[in-house]
Amino acid sequence: MCGIIGVENNENASVLASAGLLTLQHRGEESAGITVSGKEKMKTFKSMGLVSRIFNDEILLNKLPGTAAIGHVRYTTSSKSSLINAQPFQINCIHGNISVAHNGNITNFPQIKEMLLKKGAIFNHTSDTEILLHLIAMSKGSLANIVANSMRKLEGAFSLVILKDRTLIGARDENGFRPLVLGKIANSYIISSESSAVEVIGGKYIRDIKPGEIIMIENGRIKKSFLYKKPKKQNTCIFEQVYFSRSDSIVFGQTVKEARVKMGEYLAQQMKNIKADIVMPVPDTGYFAALGFSRASNILFENGFVRNHYVGRSFIKPSQTLRDLTASLKLRPIKEVVYGKEIVLIDDSIVRGTTSKRLINILKEVGVKKIHFALSCPPIISSCYYGIDTPSKEHLIAANNSIEEMRKYLSVDSLTFLTLDNLVKACSFSSKKDDVFCAACFTGKYPTKISKNTYKEDC
Ligand code: SF4
Repeated sequence: MCGIIGVENNENASVLASAGLLTLQHRGEESAGITVSGKEKMKTFKSMGLVSRIFNDEILLNKLPGTAAIGHVRYTTSSKSSLINAQPFQINCIHGNISVAHNGNITNFPQIKEMLLKKGAIFNHTSDTEILLHLIAMSKGSLANIVANSMRKLEGAFSLVILKDRTLIGARDENGFRPLVLGKIANSYIISSESSAVEVIGGKYIRDIKPGEIIMIENGRIKKSFLYKKPKKQNTCIFEQVYFSRSDSIVFGQTVKEARVKMGEYLAQQMKNIKADIVMPVPDTGYFAALGFSRASNILFENGFVRNHYVGRSFIKPSQTLRDLTASLKLRPIKEVVYGKEIVLIDDSIVRGTTSKRLINILKEVGVKKIHFALSCPPIISSCYYGIDTPSKEHLIAANNSIEEMRKYLSVDSLTFLTLDNLVKACSFSSKKDDVFCAACFTGKYPTKISKNTYKEDC
């Protein structure tokens, strides 16, 4: 999973891009980078680590002058965790300097890479994003044509920001797996993975970049917007609403907070026979679902955990050791809130099950009487090929155990997953049909062709 941002026609382009990346930090904590252009020669600065540690005033104001910028925060698995794969990727080719930042996973990467290698291409990175740069460099025609022709060759998930001189381009694959929004601040357009990054820097969300759309922005105006491929059917990732996106973002046209409250309300309906003293969230993603549950069930909402905000999200750490350490550092229960109580505990999802088990253990250690564990999505039974680093099937607890087996493993009094029907209802607003979501990690039914040769890597 990654976060991307683009800023155009602004004297403070790199400063705004870094503030946007800070807002998107939850989408990737391993590396961050910014490319600027428009004043001097195109330049890219990137490093491993958190945005706040990489970009200071000296770097932003003195080393990254420009009126247009693109930025990227990255998460990947440990095997590919290195500066060489940090984005944006800047190249100098027949078309001049071009830089690209990508969120998603290009599923036909190996096939295209092989074709490019046979034509003599040289690869510097191990990331799938690099093939797009080769395709762009080998294409002919206008900037719009070379981007569109290159994207037509790709399969899978790709939300992109591309910078060429003063032109900022935003593009989204025809399924629209990953979010990408258009915003505006004064005379500058912003393109971002999430609307919260636009609003944090003082801008306004305008609309989503459509699935299959390429939008080109120059000198504070939209120069061109067109569909490089007509979408047959949208397949936006429903897990964005469950877990990945910020609660204050508008994702796929719906406020994430609103979707999460509804998930909690539907969970309360599914668990109407449960009696409990309090309902409490696993921070942060469980917060609004627990609020919705509390309102719908009239069970008192309580915050029973203190979260250490200086520890990153456990799910997006690249190794089990780091995940283990992060989980115990991150959350501590408040004994006075939970001691002797029967609680409904709400979390977003169970992936491997180890983090949930540890949380439940520490709640028992401080004297919780009974735990009804509720998840705001169905059991995750299949891996994601569209840019979210869910582990392979053998490591997914729900792929290999029944709900009763999981309940026993977790040692809880009841275990409830939101049904897929209820999840889709919670994430749908009136104008949308049910078929707009990808829910393959809950159903195993992938919206694109998946075979043993299909590439799976995040970003
Ligand atoms: S498989 Fe799951 S995580 Fe991946 S895009 Fe589909 S819904 Fe999202």
